[in-house]
Formats: sequence, C-alpha cells, structure tokens
Amino acid sequence: MRQIIKPVAMVFFISILFTGMVSGSDMNSPIKFHPIKHATMVIQSKTVTIYVDPVGDPELFSQYPKPDLILITDIHRDHLNKEVVDAVKHPGTLIIANKDAVTQLKKGRVLNNGESFIYKEINIEAIPAYNLTTDRLKFHPRGRGNGYVITMFGKRIYLSGDTEDIPEMRMLKDIDYAFICMNSPYTMTEDQAASAVLEFKPKVVIPYHYRGKNGFSDIDKFKNMVEKNGDIQVELLTWY
Ligand code: ZN
Repeated sequence: MRQIIKPVAMVFFISILFTGMVSGSDMNSPIKFHPIKHATMVIQSKTVTIYVDPVGDPELFSQYPKPDLILITDIHRDHLNKEVVDAVKHPGTLIIANKDAVTQLKKGRVLNNGESFIYKEINIEAIPAYNLTTDRLKFHPRGRGNGYVITMFGKRIYLSGDTEDIPEMRMLKDIDYAFICMNSPYTMTEDQAASAVLEFKPKVVIPYHYRGKNGFSDIDKFKNMVEKNGDIQVELLTWY
C-alpha cells in the first residue's frame, strides 16, 4: 500500500510546484497531501503535520511525523476510530472534531459548524456537512458533521466531509485545494459535485471518499465535466 501511495503523493506535490500554484515563500513551506484511504489523509508542511480522519491500520501512518493536529469530520467508521486515534497521536496532539466525535473519543476540542480555531499560524474553520435529499437525510443530519477550511501558508484547503452540494459549500471563496466527496447514495453524485465546484471555483479539486454502496463513483466523468466547463484543475490521487 505504501509503495503505491508515496509516489502518487510525490507526483502531485511536484505537479503543484511545476504548475506554479505554490510559489514565493510557499516554496520554503510547501504543503503536501498524502492520501491514505477513502477519506483519510495526511497533510504535511515543514512545520505542521495534520491527520484527517485517521482510520485503518496505524502502520499506514508510520512513515509520517506524529500529528500536531488531528481533524475528524464525523462519527462513521470511515472517519472515526478511537483505537486508531489513540494509536497514532502523541501527547501534544490537538484533536479537533465535531461534538459527537469528541463524545465518543472522550477527548478533543469541539468545533461546531461555523466556528473557527487558530492553531499556531493555521486557521481551521468548521463548515457544515449534511444531506439535502429527502431519502438521504438519515445519513448525515444537518449540524452533526464538519467539513473544514484550513488556511495555512497563504493557501486555503477545503475538506468537504460527508455532504451534498449544500449552499455553504457553493458559497466558499478563494479555495486553492478542494477535497470533494462523491459516493452514492451517501453523499454526492458526480453531477452534484461538478455543479458545486463549478460554482465555488476552487483552483484545484481532488476527488476523495468516492467508494459507495455500488462501487466507485465515475471520477473520470467528474473530471471531464469540471475541466471542460471551467478553469479548474482536477487532480486524481490514489485513494483505494
Ligand atoms: Zn464517509
């Protein structure tokens, strides 16, 4: 698994550098995105390491520095596993999560929808994440889950969490990297996801969380819809 993940992550990092999206002072503090699986990733800069929704074999994280921050988006098992959080964190790790996740973990700082938190030079804002479609409301009720906008080194990174194409997503501004979920029937279809990103226009979109009940979403279809309609780059990483 790790032999696959590492080269892909490096290719993406290099492509950021060569497309000029990381420039100036960012060259000294670049941000690297390491996909682990599904919704789980490591965001790494020279000074800060963030684990997002750490689940799965703790060994998957062994090649990365211990996390300064752990962000958790929701309570389902593809986002929250107390044993894994306890295994990968160190005593100084700050855990930021939605209220129900903090209750289950018995630790961490609650960030409710709309609230922000500053850690060193990093700003973390909790963005709502919920279903809109009547027969999907049971999956992600409004007010429970968090997406996040992380602002670090002058870049704004959006993690959608498990959500449909809610107004709060469509209204986002100045997003450099958007991680967008897409799995039917739990979150968005390819069409919903493409429609939303074409409205809020992040510079780069990275599909993630796209394994659903009936297999994988059609990521190539999503990429075509987005790239032919707008000035947005879609980067495909290896999540599975
Ligand atoms: Zn999920």
